[in-house]
Amino acid sequence: MRVLVTGGAGYIGSVVTEELIKDGHEAVVYDSLYKGHRAAVIEEAKFVEADLMDGATLKATLEEHAIEAVIHMAADSLVGESVEQPAKYYRNNMVAGLNLLDAMRETSVTRLVFSSTAATYGEPLKQPIEETDATAPTNPYGESKLAFERALKWYENAYGLHYASLRYFNAAGATEHCGESHDPETHLIPIVLEAAAGTRSSVTIYGDDYPTRDGTCVRDYIHVVDLARAHILSLNILDERSAIYNLGCGGDGYSVREVIEAAREVTGLNIPVETGARRPGDPAVLIASSDKIKSELGWQPAMQDLKVIIQSAWAWMQAHPKGYEGKR
Ligand code: UDP
Repeated sequence: MRVLVTGGAGYIGSVVTEELIKDGHEAVVYDSLYKGHRAAVIEEAKFVEADLMDGATLKATLEEHAIEAVIHMAADSLVGESVEQPAKYYRNNMVAGLNLLDAMRETSVTRLVFSSTAATYGEPLKQPIEETDATAPTNPYGESKLAFERALKWYENAYGLHYASLRYFNAAGATEHCGESHDPETHLIPIVLEAAAGTRSSVTIYGDDYPTRDGTCVRDYIHVVDLARAHILSLNILDERSAIYNLGCGGDGYSVREVIEAAREVTGLNIPVETGARRPGDPAVLIASSDKIKSELGWQPAMQDLKVIIQSAWAWMQAHPKGYEGKR
């Protein structure tokens, strides 16, 4: 299939692009590079540097490359920032998304895979979280993603769009070529590995008084390649139907302290730790039930072991000590 990947120069998007090419699809990455990295896009993919708000370029790209499906990953994704700057999140995650849907309608592209998030659930009422559970976001990031998901339902109804909305839990890990490089970095695993490498003085645990097994927050970490595979599988349903799927590994998840301990074992290095205040908006536990995508699409995570996930991130970090810096 000829697939447009918006945000394909970002962390998850670059891995999705790699997997598309590996499976024999054609990938056109559409990215403004406002946060993505040109060097993250593998050579075999085509690349268009443009903004989603630029409707003319968007439409021309869909037409010129005869795009058959879109994987829409371009977004802002920081909870704390979204609380401080909701306008940015509604504009970049919702308005820009609607602009994409308009361009798709105008060019008769009816297949969409959308990067959604566990943040659509807000403070969960039970674990593991199922797709039928209530959605009640507690921040503008989750709200903007949920609002777009809801729009998709009505666009399907009126315009024949089919979509797969994938609610990610905690993406982590790397491939040989693509890894996590954010500025500033806010995610736990790269922060812990930076502390191991000595490029950061310590890791601050955001709260150790949660009602969990060791007092720190528990999350469901999923290898970015397993996540990417789910996007490729989801393309298969889009001729016939739409669906919402959770994506995590399930089980008991891992606490912040367990992540730090696993990183100590993987790296063999000392990781200085401090305990700080809770980060606003962090639920104590977020664990996915991914039974639905397993049974409907046959998806299975191949790299569930946290040490395997951390090892891949560590290998990438050692090969790219400055991230993509200088390789734009
Ligand atoms: N966390 C932490 N210290 C950090 C970064 C994250 O204790 O420097 C915690 C955070 O509170 C959360 C977990 O690690 O419970 C995962 O956070 P991350 O930002 O990686 O992902 P999120 O769960 O917010 O999507």
